[in-house]
Amino acid sequence: VSAKAEAEIDSDATIGGVKVSSSDRVVFPDAGLTKGDVARYYEVVADRMLTHVADRPLSLLRCPDGISGDCFFQKHAGKGFPDGIRSIPIEEKDGGTEDYMYVSTPGGLIGAAQMSTIEFHIWGAARDRLDRPDRMVFDLDPDEGLDFADVKRAAGEVRAALDACGLASVPMVTGGKGVHVIVPLRRISEWDSVTYFSRVLATIFATRDPARYTATMSKAKRKGRIFIDWLRNERGATAVAPYSLRARGGAAVALPLTWDELGDLERPDTFHPADVEARLDRPCPLDQVEPRGIGKGAVRALEDLSKS
Ligand code: ATP
Ligand code: MN
Ligand code: MN
Repeated sequence: VSAKAEAEIDSDATIGGVKVSSSDRVVFPDAGLTKGDVARYYEVVADRMLTHVADRPLSLLRCPDGISGDCFFQKHAGKGFPDGIRSIPIEEKDGGTEDYMYVSTPGGLIGAAQMSTIEFHIWGAARDRLDRPDRMVFDLDPDEGLDFADVKRAAGEVRAALDACGLASVPMVTGGKGVHVIVPLRRISEWDSVTYFSRVLATIFATRDPARYTATMSKAKRKGRIFIDWLRNERGATAVAPYSLRARGGAAVALPLTWDELGDLERPDTFHPADVEARLDRPCPLDQVEPRGIGKGAVRALEDLSKS
């Protein structure tokens, strides 16, 4: 046994009942967080995080050599995965069927960390009703050079438009550059309606205020603008999960906030695992709003907005 292998065997740990190998391996070189720290973070936030993540199809961003090495998105279940990572067959748009992953327990989150997962990305629907989304997301992506103040102003404008449609929303800083405006939904509509609603809303912004907004993904059209990424609301698309760590230098977390908290915030990547743990005695802002449905009233209000 080489010295390196021995050191790694020595650093095996049991976290939340799950065996985590090489737990002393540094994953975030700048922040100094190890694989064990990542697993322990997910153990501590598990109950809170599972309210938003349990029982929905997942993509995992895995970084076996830490965040400075190659990271890859894993969308489908594979052999030899920890027990807590379950699999569910889902019919694709083209008619084929693929096995997707989901977790339901703290052991599932920690098991994913054992597989070097840093980020969890979720579908907008749960496995018991995959055709009925229970969340809609507006992913605000600022062009380089825009201030966070511009993003916050955009988030407030999206919130106001949603309010006018009778939909309550919650901001989430992504731990990266932007904010997701999340709308908890009653499961009364199918994907088509949610995709339509989000596309129309983004297009209204881009049409009304083309100097500040774009609704198309093209980087060229983003110049100095905010891309209102509504494509997260298509069946099979994902968005980063609330409470997920981000595989970026500062080891920040994607964190739902109250609108007041967002107003006072200077950057979208300032919440780290310890900050999040310190907030767990407070309710999650996402659980503080009533899910609403995208019914005829909401669609009529949206179409009124597009005429005004
Ligand atoms: P930021 O605030 O920095 O934009 P973000 O999480 O919103 O952070 P985006 O690049 O806007 O990052 O991506 C939005 C979402 O789209 C991601 O959270 C992820 O779920 C999904 N996504 C982006 N790129 C990929 C990819 N290569 N493979 C799979 N899903 C992706
Ligand atoms: Mn984004
Ligand atoms: Mn995006």
